[in-house]
Amino acid sequence: MKINVAKSAGFCFGVKRAIDTALKTAASGRNVYMLGDIVHNEEVVRQVGKAGVKKISALSAGKNKTLLIRAHGSSQSILTKARKLGYTIVDATCPMVKEIHRIARDMEKKGYGIIIIGDKKHDEVLGIAGQLATKAIVIDNATRIPTGMLKKIKKACVVVQSTQNIEKVLRIVEKLKSVIPDLIFCNTICKPTQIRQEELKKMPLENDVMIVIGSKNSANTKRLYEIARALNPRSYWIGSRKDLKRDWFKRSKNVGITAGASTPDVTLQEIVSYLKTLS
Ligand code: SF4
Repeated sequence: MKINVAKSAGFCFGVKRAIDTALKTAASGRNVYMLGDIVHNEEVVRQVGKAGVKKISALSAGKNKTLLIRAHGSSQSILTKARKLGYTIVDATCPMVKEIHRIARDMEKKGYGIIIIGDKKHDEVLGIAGQLATKAIVIDNATRIPTGMLKKIKKACVVVQSTQNIEKVLRIVEKLKSVIPDLIFCNTICKPTQIRQEELKKMPLENDVMIVIGSKNSANTKRLYEIARALNPRSYWIGSRKDLKRDWFKRSKNVGITAGASTPDVTLQEIVSYLKTLS
């Protein structure tokens, strides 16, 4: 059985940068805190926790504490509150997410209503919405477009959560164009996601079986799985080697593997090594 690993599988540069920043900041002897998990991956969360970074669900007195902002970014109100409470901020927001923040703020200043295409409760989406003085409209599906509300808007700018599926986004944008007279679409899906999705247009068709690796709470892995599954019903989404079933590979000549942006290389390599024993 031939094993084909996607070139883009695993950590994107934004996630890698955030993890490195967390580990370095913890190693410098500071008291480091983080609101939520660094990324949606249990293995990485364990590693960062072991290094001494503490996860919190709310801010408290911040004297002698450092607050690490994760790759997904954060709203302005959280940053302001943290500073007031005395935290020192170390910002590991991915530069590509920062760029979405900048576009949304600039376009709002120019008088455009801001529409975000993304998962309503995802931290990145909350962070983008949290840059604005007015309330952003968040749309997660072409079947759930608030047409009545949108008809009142004359000009709007659309930005996109960095890991969204481009096909789905274009379907939503088409519908928005028919309702809003002056609509500017900024495709802010990041380059690493675009490359990953591009590779997935072919891989599921060229391989008998497709394996997508990543945690069940990872939104970008879920999207990779959905794309793969639509093209190849023998696509499986696993978190680690122990989820693999030998039956999946019966009568298979080749297997394609990809992994979400928050999946560590060690998990990927474990799976590749195991599959080699089946070949
Ligand atoms: S998925 Fe894209 S935007 Fe998100 S952290 Fe990675 S590079 Fe940055």
